[in-house]
Amino acid sequence: MEKRFDAAIIGGGPAGLNAALVLGRARKSVVVIDEGRPRNRVTRETHGFLTRDGISPGEFRQIAKEQIMAYPSVEFAEDTVVAVTGGDGDFRLTTAQGRSYRSKKLLFAAGMKDEPLAINGLTEVYGKSAFVCPYCDGWELRDQTLVLIVNGAKAMHLAKTIAGWTERYTICTNGPDELTGEQREELARHNVPVFESPIARIESDEGIVRQVVLEDGSVIPCRGIFFAPRLVPGSDLPEALGCRTTEAGAVVIDDLGKTNVPGVFGAGDSASQKYQAIAAAAMGAMAGAGINSELLEEAWSSQTGES
Ligand SMILES: Cc1cc2nc3c(=O)[nH]c(=O)nc-3n(C[C@H](O)[C@H](O)[C@H](O)COP(=O)(O)OP(=O)(O)OC[C@H]3O[C@@H](n4cnc5c(N)ncnc54)[C@H](O)[C@@H]3O)c2cc1C
Repeated sequence: MEKRFDAAIIGGGPAGLNAALVLGRARKSVVVIDEGRPRNRVTRETHGFLTRDGISPGEFRQIAKEQIMAYPSVEFAEDTVVAVTGGDGDFRLTTAQGRSYRSKKLLFAAGMKDEPLAINGLTEVYGKSAFVCPYCDGWELRDQTLVLIVNGAKAMHLAKTIAGWTERYTICTNGPDELTGEQREELARHNVPVFESPIARIESDEGIVRQVVLEDGSVIPCRGIFFAPRLVPGSDLPEALGCRTTEAGAVVIDDLGKTNVPGVFGAGDSASQKYQAIAAAAMGAMAGAGINSELLEEAWSSQTGES
């Protein structure tokens, strides 16, 4: 008879790993199944995580795994979960490598994925001198000349935010500008140039951007880029199971990570729009506690035949 874990965790980033730590310490049997393609794998350093500022994403995971392995009820599998059937108390997971797992509870911590980067030359600089979050990488580009590739309301938000790190930046809307007249005037008052010609290419040296070249021939020298990525959920399995999601694709959860589907929990980027490693880890910790308390309640009730 196949082993039935107390919990299966899909995704081994900060969210899934912190949930595994909490559940391991709570003496629950757990399998963490992770295909190892986190969104931040393009970057060399993770910032803003207390006691770990500047750590590489790989080292972060390595240390986390070493610490979790102190709790023998947690197992790791490098694999992709491709299907989930069953329900609360007995979920059945199938993986790309043809393995199957059973678990009482399920935690989705599958993160988000970037849609393919459609701008010529962006892949070469992504994670090295082009970033998505000023809180994560703004400090390293402070006082530098930057290009913001962003449009519409997001452009206003990013322009105001980046002003905390540098005064020298230009907006490229990469196609027809979706700003209102009022927004354009506001940017002009703050001396922020706006270019709407599509981007022909980004030129760089060993990952460090040199200039952005537009289709109309304009050349914008710069040392860094921030852009607004298009994100999709790391896994479509929560939706397939009937989990409610927001318009942005985040699984809707309560404070303890519980979704609307009994026995199914969510944590991290796939269940919020915070997109910060420490926030994902905190959500994982809370989901771990949520799963544990549900398991404890069920065990308590079953001892006396209550339902
Ligand atoms: C370029 C960049 C730089 C960043 N820098 C910082 C920073 O400096 N500081 C910071 O706080 N945050 C940073 N972030 C954000 C941070 O990386 C995320 O907020 C954090 O990793 C989210 O953690 P998570 O556990 O929710 O998801 P992830 O870390 O993305 O992990 C999800 C995991 O689930 C796996 N997975 C998905 N589907 C399946 C499946 N079906 N089966 C098995 N496994 C699956 C994925 O492969 C992945 O390994 C950065 C993000 C990017 C893109």
